[in-house]
Amino acid sequence: MEPKTYFIRTYGCQMNELDTEIMAGQLEKRGLVPSSNEENADLLIFNTCSIRDLAERKVMGKLGRIGRGQKNHAIIGVTGCMAMAKKDALFRKFPHLDFVMGTNNITELGAIVDEVLYTKRPVFKTDDHFEENLDYLIAKRDNKLKAHVSIIRGCDKFCTYCVVPYTRGQEVSRPPESIVEECRRLVDAGYKEITLLGQNVNSYGKDKPEWNCFFHDLLYKIDQIPGMERIRFMTSHPIDITVELMQAVRDLPSLCEFVHFPIQAGSSRILKKMHRIYTKEQYLEKVELLRHYVPNVSLGTDIIVGFPTETEEEFLETFEVMKQIRYSIAFIYAYSPRKGTPAIRWKDDIPEEVKQDRLQRLMDLQNEIANEERQHLLGQTFEVLVERHNKDGKMLKGRTRCWKKVIFEGSEDLIGTLQQVKVHSYGHQTFIGELASPLHSLSLSCR
Ligand code: SF4
Repeated sequence: MEPKTYFIRTYGCQMNELDTEIMAGQLEKRGLVPSSNEENADLLIFNTCSIRDLAERKVMGKLGRIGRGQKNHAIIGVTGCMAMAKKDALFRKFPHLDFVMGTNNITELGAIVDEVLYTKRPVFKTDDHFEENLDYLIAKRDNKLKAHVSIIRGCDKFCTYCVVPYTRGQEVSRPPESIVEECRRLVDAGYKEITLLGQNVNSYGKDKPEWNCFFHDLLYKIDQIPGMERIRFMTSHPIDITVELMQAVRDLPSLCEFVHFPIQAGSSRILKKMHRIYTKEQYLEKVELLRHYVPNVSLGTDIIVGFPTETEEEFLETFEVMKQIRYSIAFIYAYSPRKGTPAIRWKDDIPEEVKQDRLQRLMDLQNEIANEERQHLLGQTFEVLVERHNKDGKMLKGRTRCWKKVIFEGSEDLIGTLQQVKVHSYGHQTFIGELASPLHSLSLSCR
């Protein structure tokens, strides 16, 4: 029976969230409506990341419970990186599953649902290569202010701990005209902030040199769209952060002065083992160059502690790099081996208590740095995109160009606008401020 309602449960990164929006758009075009909960949906999809163990375990648990007698759903499917990683082994474990669809087959969702309906058999589609014929404009977005726009899919870097090159395949850039058109439509629809997405956005255009449009060229095109307020991008590989990109961050009015610059480890030996293709020294030189071009830039990073064979001295190198660079945001993880990655063949030889101790020491350091940064920023005025009320409904909440959360008092009609807010104090990771008078000059420091 043709499903009438759908529910998509998403685990993972912004790429997965965007894929969910595109799938939702496809299903709604077909006439399905969203279900308020997964128990009652006619079509239930788990769109699941495979990078962290937790998401996979959650979905496996849910699929198991549904299999033990709770299958109200007409059709159940698994998509995303987990589908690519586990492939048809999922059918052996969960015989009640109706389809497994890979990240590169997202255009075929409708056809896959039809095949399940008409053949009454499980359908399995996980292509290794992405064909660039996806209708991105169909995405169904719940957020009316901020949108993610995909510019490149896949990754060619093959870091030894990462499953993405195997689950999302090689890099495929999206044509610039299609990206600019989507951004233009979003601006016309009132969107204020666009985040350009890719596993490595800085690689944009390298697979299509004939376009002569690389990442910084694309940024210049998007910045020129009338009414474009804010552009962000996620995520970057340090090796592909070019001088041209740094100059774009300096020069383009709509491009936010925040760069995610994931170092992963501070030891050159560990970086080599991770196949990050840069040394600590090369990384530090690039950060220095970026700060030369954009002195007020904020930096974010990802760090893995306890990678196989990491010594205490090598961990301390990471600690020292963090102290030296003073990131605004750091996502810090303890290493855990992932099936399908080259690193799985190495013994996971750092004891769990050592990993947790290193993790805690870096988190304490980052808290200290973040608190000092907050102190330093008190009294300054920032541009804030006002997004909504905060939890208790009494204050308005938004983010600065450099990704700082700010709450302040103001009327509801400010939601969806850009305001200048002077910050006077802070609570847990959030600044508290007040609307600045129009004559108040904007702080020069974004950090
Ligand atoms: S750059 Fe490395 S960590 Fe990032 S997606 Fe590609 S392989 Fe994974």
